[in-house]
Amino acid sequence: MRERLLPIFQESYRELRPRAPIPELAVEFFAFTNINNTIRLREGKLLVRLSDLLEGAPDAVLRAIAHILLAKMYRKPIERNHATRYRRYVSSHHTQGRFYNLESVFDDLNVRFFYGLLARPQMTWSRDHARNSLGHYDPAHNAIVVSRVFDHSRVPRYAVEYIVYHEMLHLKHPVKLRGSRRCVHSAEFQAEERVFPDLERAKQFLQLL
Ligand SMILES: [Zn+2]
Repeated sequence: MRERLLPIFQESYRELRPRAPIPELAVEFFAFTNINNTIRLREGKLLVRLSDLLEGAPDAVLRAIAHILLAKMYRKPIERNHATRYRRYVSSHHTQGRFYNLESVFDDLNVRFFYGLLARPQMTWSRDHARNSLGHYDPAHNAIVVSRVFDHSRVPRYAVEYIVYHEMLHLKHPVKLRGSRRCVHSAEFQAEERVFPDLERAKQFLQLL
């Protein structure tokens, strides 16, 4: 893999800066918490870290991220086809788990419970396998993140649906401030949560897990 990466970055560098000598390059995969890629210039050496979620990505996607990072580094415009290719890969890879596709879970719940009215945020499996958080809605990135622990054959669909449904309610009912208290699960929120038909079953399953 590493042997594939270096020539891709060198070629991309050559395209962006045809006359500048290619600096020493170190490219590695790194287990960031979220999908992330970084580039730094340190003592004339370019240090690149790519999210390990990109391991196994096709060359075209790696060429895209090489272009994006180098363009950022050298303040060159990012070519649209590269930007699109990278974004498409990441969003499809993020949402499609081994067992469950979060976008289709969202779309299905949206029709069943929200008249299809909620705008779908970025749907992402978390990369850590922590169980302490089932999922969360991140308003800053407009993303629903679900713990990858639940992307498993022994997890029934209603449990995944419940986690996503709960986060959809967060999307619908933004956190309110009552004085200095943040009201995260308001009375309205809780009433709407009880509408979910598999609520008890799902809660029970998630506790047992
Ligand atoms: Zn909550």
